[in-house]
Amino acid sequence: MTVNVLFAAKQEGWETYEQPLRKALSAAGLDARLATDMPAAEVDYIVYAPNSDLQDFTPYTRAKAVLNLWAGVERIVGNETLEIPLARMVDPGLTKGMVEWVSGHVLRYHLGLDTDITRTDPRWAPRTPPLAEERSVVMLGMGALGSAAAEMLTRIGFDVTGWSRSPKDVPGVTCLHGEDGLQDALAKAEIAVLLLPDTPATENTLNAETLALMPRGACIINPGRGPLIDDDALLAALDSGQIGHATLDVFRTEPLPQDHPYWAHPKVTVTPHIAAATRASTASASIAENIRRGEAGEDFLNLVDRGLGY
Ligand code: NAP
Repeated sequence: MTVNVLFAAKQEGWETYEQPLRKALSAAGLDARLATDMPAAEVDYIVYAPNSDLQDFTPYTRAKAVLNLWAGVERIVGNETLEIPLARMVDPGLTKGMVEWVSGHVLRYHLGLDTDITRTDPRWAPRTPPLAEERSVVMLGMGALGSAAAEMLTRIGFDVTGWSRSPKDVPGVTCLHGEDGLQDALAKAEIAVLLLPDTPATENTLNAETLALMPRGACIINPGRGPLIDDDALLAALDSGQIGHATLDVFRTEPLPQDHPYWAHPKVTVTPHIAAATRASTASASIAENIRRGEAGEDFLNLVDRGLGY
C-alpha cells in the first residue's frame, strides 16, 4: 500500500532532502508518495521543519506522526493543534558532528591553544598543560548528543561528569542528576558543556547563582540552546573573572544581533549555530525507519514527551 509522506519545510530543505529521502524510503521497503503538497486528508506522515509554513495540524486527520528534521523541538512542542506523536531527529551524522565540535572546543580550552594561536609578540614561553585525566569536564545534558560527546571525552582521557534529569549509568562517566547533582557537577566543572534542550525547566540553568558554584576561571561551551544561559549573569561572571571564557554557538535571538555584547567581548567566542548540522543521508534513514515502524505497528523511535518539552 502506498504511504503518503508530506515534506513540510523550506524550499532549500526539499532540494537537500528529496533524493536522500526517496532513496531511504525505498531502502526501507516502503512504497511512498513523497511531495511538498498533497490534500491534507491523504497525508500519512509529516516530515517537518519547525520553520515551515505549516503550523495548523488540524486538517491532517489521517496522519500518524510528525517526524521532526531538527533535534530541537522547542518551536513545535507547544503547538496545540498537534495531537499525534511527534518524533525529534536523532541522526548519526549530526551526532558525529557534535562529538567532533565539542571535542575540538574542549581541547582548545584544555591545551590553552589560544596562547600560541593569538600570540603577537616573539615570546618563547614553554608550558606543560595538565593531562586530560587531570581536567574535569562536565556535560550538562546526557541525551543522544551529550552522552556521545561525553563518551568521546572519556576516550581522550578527561575526567567526565554528566548531568541529566533522570539517573544514568554511562561507563567511565560520573553520572549525576537533579538539583543537588547540578551543584555537585558545577563545583568541579573546569569546562562545562551545555547539551540540554530548551524547556521551561532548563531556562537559565547557568545563572548568577550556578555560575558562582564553578571553579574560578572555568570555561563554558554552549552548543545547546541560548536560553540555557542567563546572558547578563554570564557577562558579569566573565567581567569579574569568575568565568574565564565562553564559546557560544546558540543564542536567544539568532542571528545574534550585531550590537550584542558577546560579539566584541574578549572572553567570548561566537560561532553561528554551526556546532552540528543534520546530514540529509543519515537523517533520511532515521525518518524512513520511523515510517517503516509506523507501518509495521511498531513503536516510533525518539518520541517527544510533550509534558517535559523534549
Ligand atoms: P536529548 O536526547 O533529548 O537529551 C536531552 C538531555 O537533557 C537528556 O539527558 C535529559 O535528561 C537532559 N535534560 C532535559 N531536561 C533536563 C532538566 N530539567 N534537568 C537536567 N537534565 C535535563 O537531546 P539531544 O538530541 O542530545 O540534543 C540536545 C540539544 O542539543 C537539543 O535539544 C538542541 O537544542 C541542541 N542541538 C544543537 C545543535 C547545534 O548545532 N548547536 C544541533 C543539534 C542539537 P534525561 O536523559 O534524564 O531525559
